[in-house]
Amino acid sequence: MRALLNLTCRWVFNLFSKPKRSRKRSRLKLKYKDDVPELLEDDLLYVVGENGEYWMICFKCPCRCGELIHLNLLKEASPYWKFLVKNGRLSISPSIWKTTGCKSHFKIYNNKVKWFSGLFIRIRHPLLK
Ligand SMILES: [Zn+2]
Repeated sequence: MRALLNLTCRWVFNLFSKPKRSRKRSRLKLKYKDDVPELLEDDLLYVVGENGEYWMICFKCPCRCGELIHLNLLKEASPYWKFLVKNGRLSISPSIWKTTGCKSHFKIYNNKVKWFSGLFIRIRHPLLK
């Protein structure tokens, strides 16, 4: 019951608090780097690490607000995200939900941005379970 109430409150909050923004940038490209780049290019997902050991994914927020997003991949720290590259396409789990600024909530699946609008829907990549 409490979970349902939380879900309803979140849905109502999102319904009225989401700023209008362009969501044209829906497909991203993948790039491997051994360190976090000083300048991040638009539409690129940077997977940061060396020798098959990756510790971070960083990119510009796809809503075009200009903020940088850094996702931790190390299980030792919380929160952390998992990623999967299949046929050169990246999927990240769980979803990315910014609690400040633009408050975007989205998922990256096969290099595409899947936006959550209002109602929270959990999508999991079958190989990331
Ligand atoms: Zn944003």
